[in-house]
Amino acid sequence: MKLSQIPVDVLSGVGEQRKQDLAELGIHTIADLLAHYPYRYEDYRLSDLAQAGHDEKVTVRGRVYGQPSVRWFNKKKSRMTAKLDVDGVTVHAIWFNQAYLKNKIQAGQTLMVSGKWDRHRLQITVDRTFVSPAEQEKHMGRLEPVYSVTSSIKMHWLRKLIYEAFLQYGREIEEVLPQELCERYKLIPRAKAMYYLHFPKGKEEGLQARRRMVYEELLLYELKIMWLRKINRTEVAGIVHSFPDDQVEAFVQQLAFPLTGAQRRVVREILTDMRSPYQMNRLLQGDVGSGKTVVAAIALYANFLSGHQGALMVPTEILADQHAISITKLLSPCGVNVVSLTGSMTARERREALGQIQMGLADVVVGTHALIQDAVVYRNLGLVIMDEQHRFGVKQRATLREKGEVPDVLHMTATPIPRTLAITVFGEMDVSTIDEMPAGRQPIDTYWVKKELWPRIVNFIAKECGSGRQAYVICPLIEESEKLDLENAQEVFEQLATTLAPIRVGLLHGRMTPAEKEEVMRCFADNEVQVLVSTTVVEVGVNVPNATVMVIYDADRFGLAQLHQLRGRVGRGGGASTCVLVADPKSEMGVERMRIMTETTDGFEISRRDLELRGPGDFLGVKQSGLPEFKLADLTEDVRVLEVARSDAAQLVNQPDFATRPEWRPLYEYLQEENLETLSFD
Ligand code: ADP
Ligand code: MG
Repeated sequence: MKLSQIPVDVLSGVGEQRKQDLAELGIHTIADLLAHYPYRYEDYRLSDLAQAGHDEKVTVRGRVYGQPSVRWFNKKKSRMTAKLDVDGVTVHAIWFNQAYLKNKIQAGQTLMVSGKWDRHRLQITVDRTFVSPAEQEKHMGRLEPVYSVTSSIKMHWLRKLIYEAFLQYGREIEEVLPQELCERYKLIPRAKAMYYLHFPKGKEEGLQARRRMVYEELLLYELKIMWLRKINRTEVAGIVHSFPDDQVEAFVQQLAFPLTGAQRRVVREILTDMRSPYQMNRLLQGDVGSGKTVVAAIALYANFLSGHQGALMVPTEILADQHAISITKLLSPCGVNVVSLTGSMTARERREALGQIQMGLADVVVGTHALIQDAVVYRNLGLVIMDEQHRFGVKQRATLREKGEVPDVLHMTATPIPRTLAITVFGEMDVSTIDEMPAGRQPIDTYWVKKELWPRIVNFIAKECGSGRQAYVICPLIEESEKLDLENAQEVFEQLATTLAPIRVGLLHGRMTPAEKEEVMRCFADNEVQVLVSTTVVEVGVNVPNATVMVIYDADRFGLAQLHQLRGRVGRGGGASTCVLVADPKSEMGVERMRIMTETTDGFEISRRDLELRGPGDFLGVKQSGLPEFKLADLTEDVRVLEVARSDAAQLVNQPDFATRPEWRPLYEYLQEENLETLSFD
């Protein structure tokens, strides 16, 4: 029988209660138990105190001299001290609230203790004491596994149980990797690796074991993705779009600017997908300002020429408004009817929009989640574009796709995702990258200043505006809501309007009507207003080349991606630009974020460091992104292994005899056992 079919209660000591306790940890079978890896180890190898750093954890053995002495602070709290001779050095050992040890410790005996080392006082604050020689013998030199446990499960019980499971079933652990791969990467056998992960004799064994299991974990994961891709490729038929190339080219020609080489390339990739008989599932990534909107417009236009409806879905109402404006500007001259659909519309506006969509009068629909509500019925949805797609839940994507038959899907992200992460998270997608900025972008110097320097920033704004430039001043939302917190922006606006006069200051916030917003933006664009105080409305889509100053107030309230987005509003042709982050960050992470912003303007670099700072789960929002949670692999560290595993997996699934070769059998069976449905991200 397979270990994954043997329930954990075959082990002695596991009754009904224990079985339930283990289930809480996700352990049901022997296989689960063996794969419940420790998340760290207690190191009981003897330390060399001369080398040990301050506050480091150390383990030492030494002779006790004198009796331990105890001082009581109250009935419960005590402090016990003793002197140990460790290799000729006198070390003070301190125990808090463990006075019961006093009678066990005799002068002259050898004691082993581990705890925190105070280098200056030659003192150890002990957290574990090994009194008897037998106990010392058992633990000394060991790396003891530390597992995640629940309150009902004791660590040492679990340790023993896992040890017991290895004794009884260790030999039945089957290899899954083909010999050839094990040899190529010098990987130790699976059974050995699993055992070493729990009970390594030393660091080297632990590392070998981890290397082997991480590769396996990533290979199996990539294998699933590749397999899914293969199945999708051959089975999911999509719409075959048909549109005349010269008409698309004519549209491109009448744009206000020539496309960059990168834009041309990604447009070609997208149009090829749209014409193909398979459903497009493509990720378009590019830095802020790299010009994704126009690429989306071209795809929507081709889709329109092919006689289909298109939908552009964005995460917030403000973005929906802005995209509706820019897409309308681009497409309506070509006879495309663009309709918005957002949650803030009146019932009547909404009814009207829904009617147009259903009748097929709306060629392109731009909106928020409202786009995927049940009431929305499309006539013939052919293309769905999602901006900032990782902010959408997996379910929402699925729902929208179900609206049409099998619309082509293009995901756009302005948060450049490090390539390796992209291929993992979006592994089943094709990825197009705009890696070139439109010509004429100017360098942006970024400074971080404390709030006390605010008056000097105001002077700086005055000076720049005095020489004909324009400035943004961005204030954060205090609550995480779409409705903007006005107070902050209002206050800053009033203050600046007074101090900067006669320089004219405008205010933009989310509670204004679209017409009001447009009016303020027009004034700013026409330089009738020189300083625009705004909440994050301007994050995307705003383009005023003469603006060269971006001041972000309380910048530590923004995430790195958003700061980068905001900064991208300047440096658009009007000459060298400046970004000032005004913040008194309260956390280390906040400080680090400010530092990163001042060090680089490269969106990919920023997202790489953001990822490092936050870890992949937090970076993308684990739940939403469908980012897999690995037992051992760490996407920030095991990037190289991931790439290797990916290419190995691709080679494997494409072998004609993949399903039949005996040495690949375990891998193939594994794929059959996996419920691949759960892997399709939408
Ligand atoms: P993002 O990729 O951040 O969505 P946008 O699509 O908003 O970027 O484009 C940023 C600005 O660059 C817009 O004002 C757009 O009109 C302009 N733009 C896009 N492509 C080009 C190009 N090839 N040449 C010059 N300007 C361009
Ligand atoms: Mg955009």
